[in-house]
Amino acid sequence: MRIGVLTSGGDAPGMNAAIRAVVRAGLSNGDQVFGIYDGYRGLIEGKIFEFTRKDVSEILNRGGTILGTARLPEFAYPQVRELAVKQLQKNDIDALICIGGDGTYTGALKLTEMGIKCIGVPGTIDNDIASSDFTIGFSTALNTACDAIDKLRDTSSSHQRCSIIEVMGRHCPDLALYSGLCCGAEYIITSKTGLDKEKLLADLKKNRLQGRKHAIVVISENLCDVYSLAKEVEEYSGYECRATILGYIQRGGTPTPEDRLLASRLGAYAVDLLHQNISGVACGIHENKLKYVSLKEALLMESDRDLSLEELVTKIQ
Ligand code: ATP
Repeated sequence: MRIGVLTSGGDAPGMNAAIRAVVRAGLSNGDQVFGIYDGYRGLIEGKIFEFTRKDVSEILNRGGTILGTARLPEFAYPQVRELAVKQLQKNDIDALICIGGDGTYTGALKLTEMGIKCIGVPGTIDNDIASSDFTIGFSTALNTACDAIDKLRDTSSSHQRCSIIEVMGRHCPDLALYSGLCCGAEYIITSKTGLDKEKLLADLKKNRLQGRKHAIVVISENLCDVYSLAKEVEEYSGYECRATILGYIQRGGTPTPEDRLLASRLGAYAVDLLHQNISGVACGIHENKLKYVSLKEALLMESDRDLSLEELVTKIQ
């Protein structure tokens, strides 16, 4: 089999481990594996190169993606995707493994509908792919966020401040929820809880009056302007308040062992699925077992994560 592999959308630590697993699992099956640079953009531009074992050596522990990634909104147009199909035909590629988030899955689904065998592998720090309990990159991003929040706690406790920390995860509460829980944040505000500003301000004021010296508020991105919120907290609650946006540092760094393992399992699994003549699917992990669902289903699925973490927040905050 001649298998192409690409990374697309936002980069995520562990993508390299997935690429490595695809290449090595493919080669041990007697396949030829082709790295496609810069996501769907590189695909239509024909940036397709055959990979050897050596091309993926010493990348297991590296963040980012050696293949590069790109956003190509025009991939939504059939005539642009036609260019991709032509490139795949020109290079005799039998199947494509697309590592990325839900946008990448949508691209893969549309290619599937055009007759290309595709497998989606969940690679995004947001953990927002419902067909997998965890996505490649989430563990590392969580680690990075926790490390930063712990450091901010040190200084906010010394200065008796309130710290508002914005983490990534526009549509998915997980990064804020997990990091908030792991760092003992007093408040965790996500796309799911929404921001009730009046309540937050009143609670912080009450805490301050009760003598609680500092407070950590972890909030998901895109819910408000955290700098303005910090000003309001300062004016209303009696806490001095600083806002910090963790931003893109959450995307980088050495992947955690969990991400390396997940990526290695999923990369090799994607190749196995192709050998079982299964395509048009998204692979993932559920209760620590590898599994797959159709790309269509994966895109429609809602997260069925149990709500015990939210309950835990209310119990121990
Ligand atoms: P992340 O969650 O990290 O942002 P993602 O895969 O969701 O990753 P997107 O930028 O949304 O990131 O999508 C990646 C690429 O997938 C897009 O740049 C585009 O090329 C392709 N894509 C997204 N939506 C569509 C669509 N509706 N039709 C075809 N291709 C799409």
